Amino acid sequence: MRTFSLRDLDSDFVDEIESLDFIGTFRDCYACGTCTGGCPVHRVNNDYDPLRIMRMLVLGLREELLKGEMIWLCSDCYTCQENCPMEVKITDIINHLKNLATHEDNTPLGVSTQKKLLMDQGKIYIIDEFDNKKRAKAGLPSLPEMAEEARKLLNKR
Ligand code: SF4
Ligand code: SF4
Repeated sequence: MRTFSLRDLDSDFVDEIESLDFIGTFRDCYACGTCTGGCPVHRVNNDYDPLRIMRMLVLGLREELLKGEMIWLCSDCYTCQENCPMEVKITDIINHLKNLATHEDNTPLGVSTQKKLLMDQGKIYIIDEFDNKKRAKAGLPSLPEMAEEARKLLNKR
């Protein structure tokens, strides 16, 4: 596990993110560990730890949070947020951190690939002729390259 020095701390980061009401809830965390204890990702990977993310926020470890891989391991299941006795909006906070990291182009390869597929085709799985033949056999209509609804959502003509 990495240790941090005072040079890693960024007090402006805490002010920057606290402008959103739900983010500030991390200050109510009293480190009970309930979030980590119930986290399905932590169960299979001890390096992932939502409580650690909340403590990193308290310390303002901006670079570590936004450039590291930790936040991307969260599966967005909301178990931690639902169980937190202090109603810390843990999952919402992690999602906000993912958004900030994305704005700074700090996304893992898998996520940026999915983003490109979504922007190009309106879906993250490429549907080809083979898939549409399988769909036809199952009595399903074939899917267009990009659905009209996706085109509208993505502002494509
Ligand atoms: S469950 Fe809530 S109060 Fe407990 S450690 Fe996690 S964030 Fe902090
Ligand atoms: S939302 Fe993320 S951090 Fe919370 S329990 Fe699920 S995987 Fe763990």
